[in-house]
Amino acid sequence: MFVAATLCTRLRKPNGVSWITAHHPRKGNALSILRKHFLNMRTNIVRLLPAQPCVLCGNMSREGLWCKACDAALPYFNAPHCPVCALPTPTGEVCGHCLTHPPLFSRTTAVFGYAFPLDKLIQGMKYGEQLALAHAFAKKLVQRIDKSNLPDYLIAMPLHRAKLCERGFNQSLLLATTVARELQLNLLPNTCRRVRDTPPQSALPWKERKKNVRNAFGCDMDLTGKRVALVDDVLTTGASLNALAEAVQKCGAREISAWVVARTLPHS
Ligand SMILES: [Zn+2]
Ligand SMILES: [Zn+2]
Repeated sequence: MFVAATLCTRLRKPNGVSWITAHHPRKGNALSILRKHFLNMRTNIVRLLPAQPCVLCGNMSREGLWCKACDAALPYFNAPHCPVCALPTPTGEVCGHCLTHPPLFSRTTAVFGYAFPLDKLIQGMKYGEQLALAHAFAKKLVQRIDKSNLPDYLIAMPLHRAKLCERGFNQSLLLATTVARELQLNLLPNTCRRVRDTPPQSALPWKERKKNVRNAFGCDMDLTGKRVALVDDVLTTGASLNALAEAVQKCGAREISAWVVARTLPHS
């Protein structure tokens, strides 16, 4: 009751005219008025929510898991980069590696560079069971996705059953679940599986990673002619995503994209 009353009060201009009636219906675009109304309401709801300690600096934050100042300091991935694998290139051209050894996915969307302090957040999600981070990362990923070219299906990077039992959750599936819900896309949670329990890629030299994940994935569904986006937390060499793309391509997918939270940069 109090919340509703407060919202009504805050949604009114000082002169008592509501945001909706303040716009002339013939001149204003109804959708934009509703949108503005919704955004005002959301802002006011956020103001009513209790502040929580920022996961990075500990200061109280109403913006979400991390505060505005820490968000501004995150390594957002804005440098020109290869459209295929997201490796930084001087003018955004396709990189030399993708020209000579193109991966089976045709483009990559990445939100962050895998650098401090983002790397600590990703590790907190995977190994510290801070699962709320997956939701926050997925929302950032949604903002980056090209909405004019959405896929037919989303597939999360599968974990082997043994690793799933050990960790208790698949962070890529958590990411993909939120992304699918936000963009109203079809998520295929059980279509692909990891058939071999391989050592973690991060434990291997870059050159051995491709061999490590060769034939590591299986796919059960006919994807003939479908566009598929593969969701993962971090793209480093792209070997795992490429092996998963191979399994998906064998099932007929015609276009495969990679959607990742972070891209490892050459110097990191
Ligand atoms: Zn902070
Ligand atoms: Zn590339």
